[in-house]
Amino acid sequence: ATPAATMVGTTIGAGHGILFKGGDVLERAKDVDTVVFDKTGTLTEGEMELTDVVAFDRDGNVIPDDDPAPDGGTAQRREGDDGLIAPEAGSGPDRDPETEVLRLAAAAERGSEHPLARAIVDGARERGLEIPEPDGFENVPGHGVRATVGSDGPDGGSEVLVGNRKLLRDNGIDPSPAAEEMERLESEGKTAMLVARVPAGANEGRLVGIVADADTVKPSAADAVAALKDRGIDVMLITGDNERTARAVAERVGIDPANVRAEVLPEDKSAAVESIQADGRQAMMVGDGVNDAPALAVAYVGTAIGSGTDVAIEAADVTLMRDDPLDVAKAIRVSDATLQKIK
Ligand code: ADP
Ligand code: MG
Repeated sequence: ATPAATMVGTTIGAGHGILFKGGDVLERAKDVDTVVFDKTGTLTEGEMELTDVVAFDRDGNVIPDDDPAPDGGTAQRREGDDGLIAPEAGSGPDRDPETEVLRLAAAAERGSEHPLARAIVDGARERGLEIPEPDGFENVPGHGVRATVGSDGPDGGSEVLVGNRKLLRDNGIDPSPAAEEMERLESEGKTAMLVARVPAGANEGRLVGIVADADTVKPSAADAVAALKDRGIDVMLITGDNERTARAVAERVGIDPANVRAEVLPEDKSAAVESIQADGRQAMMVGDGVNDAPALAVAYVGTAIGSGTDVAIEAADVTLMRDDPLDVAKAIRVSDATLQKIK
């Protein structure tokens, strides 16, 4: 494109909060044939909320919650803010098992900055729980956290794990008793995390429960996917989250289940984009997080969205200032329109 065309396109883009990092990017954007969306914070708001807590007994069976549900029924009991978790009042050994699961999970997550972790801690606080300060904490990226809780207590405390199935397996704990409950929550699009406990001095731990967080899909996400598909662009979803949750979100926004790449570790996101491009595709990767920066850098066009971190913006070719996935299609249209007019 001529310098004049580039200037026109860049200016039109800027008017929509779409910042192209130079003329060559503006030119490339029109040739994008695949758009790869990050899930959390890109297609979804990235504001997690604690929705469910489940407790298991020693045999791996769900402990039914015996607090009466507001409607007297049992179906809704584990859902949302329905008074499931009683405030700390009845603390002690006879404490509600779900309260205990949440208290342990929140203690373990106190040291984590992850949005999943923050939702657990905030959810526990909102339910009036006092959250113990852990004595040790380790982040296991892409899998969860491991913490030491209650070391100064009478029982010497325990190691607490909160995370995905692989985190438990890697620590010698079988996640399979939770399978049915995990699948139920995940098919609702929630991120369900296993909670396990290894008492101090014991060489074996056990699964004690599940905590689940939910995120909201951005209002324009489905329209954005539809607009891209209308242009003949293949739309994909990439996430560190599990397959079932990812597919539930994909379905909500209109992305084909075959185009979902789930359980991609943070350090593997860029390789995933490279493999998508291996057959000559020209992919636009759209992401918001630090995790996404390497993937934005290897994509044909890297696009950072809205609330994006500085690292993502730095690695990106295009920045969408407004937090609106529709601007992905708009960026491509601006590129297309500008360059065609000049030719
Ligand atoms: P995303 O791509 O959605 O940001 P991550 O790669 O950070 O996801 O994490 C992948 C998965 O690892 C999460 O879906 C969750 O199951 C687990 N996980 C990561 N961090 C935590 C945490 N702090 N607590 C519990 N689980 C976690
Ligand atoms: Mg993200």
